[in-house]
Amino acid sequence: MLKVPEAVLDQLTCEILNRGEAYVELGTLCDTVGGRVAGTEAAKKGEEWAFKLFERWGLACVRFEEFPVLAWTRGTLSAQVVGDHGWTLAAVAHGNAPAHVAAEAEVLDVGHGDTPDYERLGEKVLGKVTLCDEGVAEGRRGLHRTEKLKLAIEAGAAGLMISSSAAGGLSRTGVCHYAEASIPSMGISQEDGSRLQRLLASGRTVRVRIDMQNGVAPGHARNVIAEIPGTDGDEVVLAGGHLDSWDLAQGATDNGLGSAIVLEMARALGKLEKKPRRTMRFALWAAEEVGLCGSHEHVRWHGDALDGYAAVLNFDMTGDPFGYWCPGRPESAELLSGLATQLAGHGIEQRFEHRPGLHSDHQPFMLAGVPVLGLMANLPNEAGRYYHSVGDTFEKVSRAALGRAALAGAATMYALADEPKRSLNRMSDAEVAKMVKEGNLLEALAAEGWRPKAEA
Ligand SMILES: [Zn+2]
Repeated sequence: MLKVPEAVLDQLTCEILNRGEAYVELGTLCDTVGGRVAGTEAAKKGEEWAFKLFERWGLACVRFEEFPVLAWTRGTLSAQVVGDHGWTLAAVAHGNAPAHVAAEAEVLDVGHGDTPDYERLGEKVLGKVTLCDEGVAEGRRGLHRTEKLKLAIEAGAAGLMISSSAAGGLSRTGVCHYAEASIPSMGISQEDGSRLQRLLASGRTVRVRIDMQNGVAPGHARNVIAEIPGTDGDEVVLAGGHLDSWDLAQGATDNGLGSAIVLEMARALGKLEKKPRRTMRFALWAAEEVGLCGSHEHVRWHGDALDGYAAVLNFDMTGDPFGYWCPGRPESAELLSGLATQLAGHGIEQRFEHRPGLHSDHQPFMLAGVPVLGLMANLPNEAGRYYHSVGDTFEKVSRAALGRAALAGAATMYALADEPKRSLNRMSDAEVAKMVKEGNLLEALAAEGWRPKAEA
């Protein structure tokens, strides 16, 4: 069973809850830099912000890991329902939407935009702008927006609109394709989506005029890495979160929050006199929002060295923590229960989840068999509503919850870095294949081009 020495826990608690600094630094980032789309000047400023903080707080081996990325920038978008009773849709282009679009087409309601919806509609989809919501039919798997666009393209659609599940004019952006998309793709407000659905359901023909301009250019992005060297051997425990974000707002909870948690952990752990056995490595990933690029690159570069990764902790929109998530490893509940007891005063309960999931920076590590850990948490201030919308701003970040997540993260990281013998081992290819199959993730991963390396 993992435990953190009481003296270490006391010191971390004082340092993080009484003298935390990352929350204020995050406010500065949000208000002076704002949204940080991969490959843009703002993303570079964010990377430099993190680099300087690691240096100021005395971390070792502070460095960038640079790689090429498609730098997509939002231009103008007008999506207009044409005709006598037409109106302007509250629409935002999805990331990697085409550079130039000038088109007009009929709108077709395709429900959730899932495979059965397109099968049902067949040739009716040809040349239409399809409209779907963010929902999922019973018994079906929730589709990522990239999968919804892929289905629309395969069915012959001329464009895709996804209406937001959050009311209040909160149109959502997010990546729609991992290169420049071939048809226009956008998020629209729930209210506009409902109005279009009602008009279509009443048998009316609705046409939409789309004029879209975006910047699509080669660029580069940088992971920001720092370390606290271990006292013994060359194993590593890594804590990371993505620093890039969307541009509609400040990228405060997605994922300035997770970045600030990682930075606070690094700051507080760096102050401990007693260093743990393993090296503690911190990573602010770049270009997560456009396809987990930074963590993919790290996994690709580190290859065989991943054997030495005793655990990878990921923080993405991590709110007020109440338990642990350790994908594919039910045995972790017993391992982590002692830590949960030690952290009970800070909201951690005996709650453990091990269902694997996708679409954040733990994914490349999980698929490489590296032990992955996260905190189960509730986002305060209704922050989930504002996901990828104009509302993801700094006031949604709770200072107290950020502190508790950083404390639980730091204590867990220390315990994993200092246990004499690793409890969580790297999975074999066959074990990874089994986890993916049992987690019902094969189809979603196949859509990304991933194939298991062994029989499950
Ligand atoms: Zn995120």
